[in-house]
Amino acid sequence: RANAVHDVDTALLRSWPVPMPALEGDKEIRGHVLVLGGSREMPGAVILAATAALRAGAGKLTIATGHSVAQLVALAMPEARVIGLAEHDSAGFSLDAVATLDPLADRVDAVLVGPGMRDEAATAALVHALLPRLDAAGSAVVLDACAMGALLHPPAGWPAGRPWRFERPVALTPHAGEMAHLTGIDKASIVGVPDPRAIAAARDWNAVLALKGARTVIATPDGTLYQHEGGNVGLAISGSGDVLAGIIAGLAARGAPLDQAACWGVALHARAGERLAARMGTLGYLAREISQEIPALLEDIA
Ligand code: AMP
Ligand code: MG
Repeated sequence: RANAVHDVDTALLRSWPVPMPALEGDKEIRGHVLVLGGSREMPGAVILAATAALRAGAGKLTIATGHSVAQLVALAMPEARVIGLAEHDSAGFSLDAVATLDPLADRVDAVLVGPGMRDEAATAALVHALLPRLDAAGSAVVLDACAMGALLHPPAGWPAGRPWRFERPVALTPHAGEMAHLTGIDKASIVGVPDPRAIAAARDWNAVLALKGARTVIATPDGTLYQHEGGNVGLAISGSGDVLAGIIAGLAARGAPLDQAACWGVALHARAGERLAARMGTLGYLAREISQEIPALLEDIA
């Protein structure tokens, strides 16, 4: 018995207007996003994600990244407050970061963790240390890339062999390769039969899951399934997923529920790719250029 699949089209998006206090109010009302990520080898990923969050209309931005690159990130992203975190090597942050971030937890509306992070186990430990604090504060949480490894590295005391389940729904944005890694199912079989896998994972993990590809499916913890087909192969480039995760976090900071933020985000990302392809050609536009299309698209769709 197949679940109904809802198309992410303009009619669906318009039935969920992105909360639009945008035309009034101050930057606090439009939401504060925290982007946590980066590493010495990939400091730019947080910039891509953070730019996307602002282009999606969030009002305020903090970036938390490795101490060794924090000043460079701050210069490249003058819109952000940048916090440098203690690093235990080039790839991961030490758990001291939790104390540094603690005072922020009550002030941020959405937190994105993962862009540019390298050490899955260290990142998972950080995510698990932060989640109870973010849950108490009620911030929306988006996990991408290496931070999704929180599923594979549950905190101490979690029963061995029992899959991790989030206390409060988070948004996850795996591509098929990451989904294979997270589920232990081979990639070909995820690509071949994505829908039931996305539905099962969203239920088991208590997550809004965007399983990305040329066709992206978005599954929610209650078993609702959405699909979006669009964009183009030019979106398959380094940094593209960081931009999508940033858009979703930005919309969530503005107050969109995670399922709506995920569907809106997937559609905006794809349509931005279509606009860039029409102007520049299908291959060769850059991930950082995707974000520039978002403000006009938001106005067109809304
Ligand atoms: P990532 O692999 O994490 O960088 O994410 C790549 C992004 O590009 C995802 O949002 C995909 O849905 C999108 N994407 C990749 N390939 C295609 C394609 N052929 N057509 C449309 N979107 C794509
Ligand atoms: Mg990615």
